[in-house]
Amino acid sequence: MATVYVALGSNLENPLEQLKQAVVSLKNFAKNFDVSPFYGSKPLGPQDQPDYVNAVAKFETELSPIELLDKLQSIENEQGRVRLRRWGERTLDLDILLYDNQQIESERLTVPHYDMHNREFVIVPLYDLAPELTLPNGMSLENLFQKFKDHQMVIFN
Ligand code: ATP
Ligand code: MG
Ligand code: MG
Repeated sequence: MATVYVALGSNLENPLEQLKQAVVSLKNFAKNFDVSPFYGSKPLGPQDQPDYVNAVAKFETELSPIELLDKLQSIENEQGRVRLRRWGERTLDLDILLYDNQQIESERLTVPHYDMHNREFVIVPLYDLAPELTLPNGMSLENLFQKFKDHQMVIFN
């Protein structure tokens, strides 16, 4: 059984509902499921798109990393994900942040997520769930969080 952290993001077609639906789907293959508060954030990349709702989920799973990626991509597709432009608007994005303490570099998968340390909408909700976490490279989440502790994101619910 692996402990995983998955980032959720949406900025189309009722983002709050998209995240709630994604949580329902994730629970189908998760044990000890937990999810952070939902945050409102500004888009990364193209600015001519709606603001986002973001969260992080933590759970345990029997799925391998690639099996997990397959499940996440099928949930994205079920919820109408269409890929138009890089970092563009989407109904749902599900990214694997961490898979146990593993470091994975394959054609389809880079874990830990390559840019998580730069994203306040990832680090802040991750810190809500696991303030004591240490990343596979030895860096403490506490340390990464310092850069974002004065964030201006709105919390929903
Ligand atoms: P970013 O990765 O910068 O957040 P994005 O989430 O919009 O951008 P996607 O279009 O969702 O990017 O995914 C592009 C590809 O990234 C996927 O097809 C997948 O194979 C690959 N990928 C690599 N590492 C991961 C990961 N840790 N989680 C999810 N997808 C990943
Ligand atoms: Mg992403
Ligand atoms: Mg993605």
